[in-house]
Amino acid sequence: MIKLTHIEKIYAKGTKREVKALKDVSLTIEEGEIFGVIGLSGAGKSTLIRNINLLERPTSGTVEVDGKDLTAMKQVQLRVERRKIGMIFQSFNLLSSLTVAKNVAFPLELEGRLDKEAINKRVAHLLELVGLSDKADMYPAQLSGGQKQRVGIARALAAEPKVLLCDEATSALDPKTTSSILELLLDLRDKLKLTIVIITHQMEVIKECCDRVAVLDGGVIAEMGSTLDIFTEP
Ligand code: ADP
Ligand code: ADP
Repeated sequence: MIKLTHIEKIYAKGTKREVKALKDVSLTIEEGEIFGVIGLSGAGKSTLIRNINLLERPTSGTVEVDGKDLTAMKQVQLRVERRKIGMIFQSFNLLSSLTVAKNVAFPLELEGRLDKEAINKRVAHLLELVGLSDKADMYPAQLSGGQKQRVGIARALAAEPKVLLCDEATSALDPKTTSSILELLLDLRDKLKLTIVIITHQMEVIKECCDRVAVLDGGVIAEMGSTLDIFTEP
């Protein structure tokens, strides 16, 4: 579902502040897989995840999602392909002036493909998927961190993506809430056949839900394999 080939990302190339954030990263993530990327601060994790949906462009290398090379696309085509990729964040990124339902409806209204009734129906379905049907008319400030992230997940799934990118999505949550969000991700993977990429600095997150893991260190994949193999002492 996701294939990165020889990805290199250099910030401020050719200046004194040049940083090689990713150096020759290649990996393949299968459909329906939950793939973790773990590493210390500065290892290149956020750079890696932002290069998957081309929020940032790799300096060199190719990014394929669902069989299509995103790095070769023009903006218009890229906008269409990006609908296949949802994303959630550490800080949830909800709009505080909108209700839960309106936050989830927002990407659908921007897209303009569905009418009002269809959007309402879809939003109700999404809120049910994440267990927040009774919170539709509340505002983000009235929700717990875990509930806010559930809204973030519902919004990320609004356009029926095939891939969900999770950028330190549980780092602001306590361990119990983290587990409930990871359980939800496992459940959504099974129900929707989603492919999920999780970047985190928390080993527990990887152990709890990732099928495979890459250990990123200084912009290089130091180790990659099944979670059991990587995190079981020999
Ligand atoms: P992580 O997510 O693992 O903490 P990042 O991908 O944020 O790592 O950062 C990797 C390296 O790239 C770090 O040295 C960081 O300072 C640098 N970096 C990240 N974003 C930028 C940017 N926009 N401009 C310049 N350097 C950056
Ligand atoms: P069906 O063939 O009945 O649509 P699916 O399992 O494909 O069965 O979908 C069930 C529901 O989940 C549908 O309402 C669909 O809109 C929704 N759905 C499917 N894929 C996704 C996705 N990636 N993200 C969010 N919702 C989805």
